[in-house]
Order: sequence, then structure tokens, then C-alpha cells
Amino acid sequence: MKRFLSLIFIVTIIFSLTACTKVERTHRISVVATIFPYYDFAKNVAGDYADVEMLLPAGSDVHSFEPTAEDIKKIQNCDLFIYNGGESDAWVDTILESIDKGNGPVCMKMMTYIKGLKEQDENHNFGDEYDEHIWTSPRNASNLLGMVESNLQRLDPANTSHYEENCKKYAAEIYSISQTIEQNIKSAKKSRIIVGDRFPLIYFVNQYDLRWDCAFPGCSTETEPSLARMSELENKLKMGQYRAVIKLANSGNNVADTLAEDTGVKVVTFYDCENVTQEEIDHGATYATLMVKNAYAIKEALS
Ligand SMILES: [Zn+2]
Repeated sequence: MKRFLSLIFIVTIIFSLTACTKVERTHRISVVATIFPYYDFAKNVAGDYADVEMLLPAGSDVHSFEPTAEDIKKIQNCDLFIYNGGESDAWVDTILESIDKGNGPVCMKMMTYIKGLKEQDENHNFGDEYDEHIWTSPRNASNLLGMVESNLQRLDPANTSHYEENCKKYAAEIYSISQTIEQNIKSAKKSRIIVGDRFPLIYFVNQYDLRWDCAFPGCSTETEPSLARMSELENKLKMGQYRAVIKLANSGNNVADTLAEDTGVKVVTFYDCENVTQEEIDHGATYATLMVKNAYAIKEALS
């Protein structure tokens, strides 16, 4: 009996030691991502192994964001900081310069991982700047997902396979949606989409070799198209016998609605994923679920 009790004692000690070691080995990483797509990628790759936070308030205009002192502290104190780069993120460079390099986070500037495409105006003339909205292409999204995986593995080598598995799973989901989009485009009657809105979709249309027209270039929520451009788009919708015009989700204008009213087509919503509302996030919106909606929107817009 005495021997049996001491065995129980030893087993208990071993179990508590194992539990202790496990707690010590699990390093909970903190990730701060500026915008929704990168927040979503990090969340999906990290799963339960990291705290992931989105820096920009949900539903806010990314292009006019100004960080608070609290935001700067969050960047300074996290393990991994993910931002896009480009004009809208010019504020990031200033902050990163002021952060102690030895103590600061690992930083990912996503635009450096993707071959940039120049901005284009509504008449398809190229500008000098690179367009920032790289994640709108699902192929780019998959590549960026892989970069997030590598950096999480670098920060937490003990859980390499966990990140690998999550990344593979999410990349496969995105790939499958991308195949659906491709199929929808191939089997469509039309080969041109009419976007009655701003146009942050260069990388998307480029991936699928899709022709397009938009109300005005770039991503400003304040620009309005000229009357001449409006009547050009109306003519295209009427002459091409389109059934739908695209409006961006959380759009700051009513251009698509006006075009729809004037030409009798319907409005379909496309998610550029840059500017997602809290309500959408609360209802479980992810990059993948929004891309599923986009696959349907493209099908409608080309019918
Ligand atoms: Zn934008």
C-alpha cells in the first residue's frame, strides 16, 4: 500500500511538471494588423495561439486614418505588426522610425511581397503610383497568408505545424473560391464589369483578366464622377444590355444607385474588404466569406 501511494505521488509530480512545462512553452503572441484583410489572415493562421487586433476602427475610412497615442503604444508593444505600405500608410513609417528597433515588433509591410500594379484612371491610362489594394486578388491573398505563416513560425517555432496546418486550410478555402470566380467569369455572357463607384479593384480584375469600367479611379470616398462620365456609363449599360451594376460595400456615394435607376438594371454589392463594418465582423465576416459574396456579384454583373 505504501509503495502504491508513493507511485501515485510520483505520477502526480510528473503530471504537474508536464503541465508546468507546457504552460511555459506556450508563448502567446500578440499581433496588430492595420486593416481588415491582414487582421483576418493573422486570425486564421494563428487560431487560438495569438491575440490578434485590428488597429483601424471597423468601418472607418482607411485613407484618412490618423493614429492615436494608444495606437502607437499598441504597435510598440506587439510581437508582430502587419501593415500594407503605400500612400495611406505613410504615417506608419514615421511611427516605426521612433520605435526602439531592438524592442519593437517584427514588421510586415505587405506591399513589399507583391508585384505592384500602377494605378489606372477610368480611361485605363496608367498613373505614377502603385495601387495599394493588393489583397483584392485572391492569389495575392494566398501569398500574403503564407508570409504571415512564416512570421508566426519565426516568432513561435514550437508551434510551427499548427500555423502550417491553419494556413494550408485557409489558403485551400480561398483557392476554391477563386476557382468559382474564374468559372463564373468563363461561363458568363459578358466579359466586362461596370463598377458604379470608386475603383480599388485593379489586382482583382488583373488576376482574372477581366475588362472593366468604373465611375472614377482610386479609392476616395469623396470623389464624384463628372456628368460626361455618368452618361458614358449609362450608355454602356444600356447598349450592352447589362442586368447589373456593381456598387462597393460601405460605399460613400450613390453613383451605382443612380445608374441603376436611370437604366433599369439592378445593383450588386462587391466587397473590397478594406472597410468592413463592426456589424459585418460580428456576423462572422471573413475575407473568405466576403469573397464568396463577390463570386456571386461578379456572376450577376456579367449576366
Ligand atoms: Zn482604399
